[in-house]
Amino acid sequence: MTLNKEKQIEEIYGLPVLNDNIIWIWVKGNRAVVIDPAISNPVIKFIRDRKLVLDTIFQTHHHSDHIGGTKDLIQQWPQVKVVASCKEIKRIPFQNLSVTDGENIEILNTRFRIIELVGHTNSHIAFYSDSFTNPVLFVGDTLFSGGCGRVFEGTNEQMFTSLKRITNLPKNTKIYCAHEYTKNNLLWALDICPNDKLIKAKLEEVIIKLANSQLTIPTTLREEMNINLFLRAKDLGEFSYLRAKKDLWV
Ligand SMILES: [Zn+2]
Repeated sequence: MTLNKEKQIEEIYGLPVLNDNIIWIWVKGNRAVVIDPAISNPVIKFIRDRKLVLDTIFQTHHHSDHIGGTKDLIQQWPQVKVVASCKEIKRIPFQNLSVTDGENIEILNTRFRIIELVGHTNSHIAFYSDSFTNPVLFVGDTLFSGGCGRVFEGTNEQMFTSLKRITNLPKNTKIYCAHEYTKNNLLWALDICPNDKLIKAKLEEVIIKLANSQLTIPTTLREEMNINLFLRAKDLGEFSYLRAKKDLWV
């Protein structure tokens, strides 16, 4: 199989579901790849309405609001590939393509690199590809616009290291987060840094988008390095201070 040399336009759609989840669907030709299907019905409708075939499901981690729709989708499309961390065979038992950190996989003639990002869980992975016009990163619950995932299973040090791995990617990388938390994150960031002009400007932009029923995501790495306090943190101490503050913030 030869890889497409030409860069692909990002034909990636976001379905807002549940309270604040976003299911991403990448469409190429008549095939679709779904990332973290929290639920199945809107995905099935999206795919059927467009007469597509579900090719692959990417799972970033095992939380129910990321894998909740997967079993239904497998029933509808029994040939579907389900890609998940090899460390998650117990918690994502329906995976049929187990991957490890640094591994490259080819999906619809497109190469994706697996990047393990420990912190939110012990085996959270992200899917990165530079075969699009802008590189894309499906980052699950590790990075949000203006924030980062809670540290449930790993340590602050692991999460800080995971964020550093993200910042080493090209700055034009488009980041597809799994939750629409941007406004809340920016309000918190302004609480910490009340005079930050970049964060203020971003919040204004986000409020307008939300008022027009638009998603505020994808974001870009360049943008996040400007407005995301967790990415701006200089060391582990600062990161841990911010994470503790955010955990207590309502
Ligand atoms: Zn999660």
